[in-house]
Amino acid sequence: MKINLLDLKAQYRTIENEINEAIKEVLETTHFIMGPNVKELEKEIAAFTETKHGISVASGTDALMLTLKAMGIGYGDEVITTPFTFFASAETTSVLGAKPVFADIEEDTLCIDTNSIEKLITEKTKAIIPVHIFGNMCDMDRIMEIADKHNLYVIEDACQAIGAEYKGRKAGSIGHVGCFSFYPTKNLGAYGDGGMIVTNDDELAEKIKLIRVHGSKKKYNHEAIGYNSRLDEIQAAILRVKFRYINKWNDARYEKAHIYNELLKDLDDIVLPTERENSKHVYHLYTIQSKYRDEIVDYLKKNDIATGIYYPVPVHLQDVYKHLNYKKGDLPKAEEACTKTFAIPLYPEINYEQQKYVCDKIKEFFL
Ligand SMILES: *Cc1c(COP(=O)(O)O)cnc(C)c1O
Repeated sequence: MKINLLDLKAQYRTIENEINEAIKEVLETTHFIMGPNVKELEKEIAAFTETKHGISVASGTDALMLTLKAMGIGYGDEVITTPFTFFASAETTSVLGAKPVFADIEEDTLCIDTNSIEKLITEKTKAIIPVHIFGNMCDMDRIMEIADKHNLYVIEDACQAIGAEYKGRKAGSIGHVGCFSFYPTKNLGAYGDGGMIVTNDDELAEKIKLIRVHGSKKKYNHEAIGYNSRLDEIQAAILRVKFRYINKWNDARYEKAHIYNELLKDLDDIVLPTERENSKHVYHLYTIQSKYRDEIVDYLKKNDIATGIYYPVPVHLQDVYKHLNYKKGDLPKAEEACTKTFAIPLYPEINYEQQKYVCDKIKEFFL
């Protein structure tokens, strides 16, 4: 039996007519830029996250970058984030000429370790970017407390966590700004690139909207240097169809993650995911840890079961960041997670038979 890490075609089959209809409607209206679907999606995501403003952009990466830019972060500034994430969480800081500073992670949740944040704060620190990794919430109360004390911005990188909750509040709504990605494999994925920023801060919202479109409120009048980072109308139409199912899909992921927990619980050399207390995990990825990771991944591959290694190299040890002078051993928990963590197939449409097969093969590896 061949099992993919995720199956976007299986999902498309369940919503095919609605999607095709939505795309056709945009084609018929020819309103391709900043049309009604973009505006409605912004309202829908703001309402969903219980925030005042939803501002759509071209990608999750741009969501982070426009936010940092609107906060005035640039040369000479420092931004604290986690090294156990996708590169963009730190890259965007560097693009603007500021310096990413890396904190270590919690061994169990794999989220940024709040105990390691405070000692990294200097006069240059302007913001903290916690990443709700794999859909698991960071310790937001503690992060907001540190940020308030030191007068720092908090940008939630919620690119993997749409719909996740912390003490009843939605991912993205707790920091000053929340950033989402609609990359096709994300829990709410477009059929191309896309992203969204949410915030309750009127002034930041105004600035972000300005720099999203060439620093221009009135056509051909420019009051700031900006970007072209709009969400495509066709993608917005697709996303609005898929958004109707987000709770159902997130619930299915959660339920299926717990089926894996049950099926794998007796394996001594497999560490199961840890959900933060008082929060709701949305399992963008179902990741487990083992010191035999590479061998298990090989074994599953031979049996036609796909896996994903998240993440093979921590961001602080990437070649491009050599000049930051981190060395192996500086952030031991993140580095260890990079040798042990991997994702096994999980998506809302996966069935019990498939999950059982994956687990049987993992058990077979240990025989
Ligand atoms: C996907 C992702 C991004 C970037 O989103 P894009 O839409 O691909 O630009 C940023 N941060 C994290 C944690 C992500 O998973």
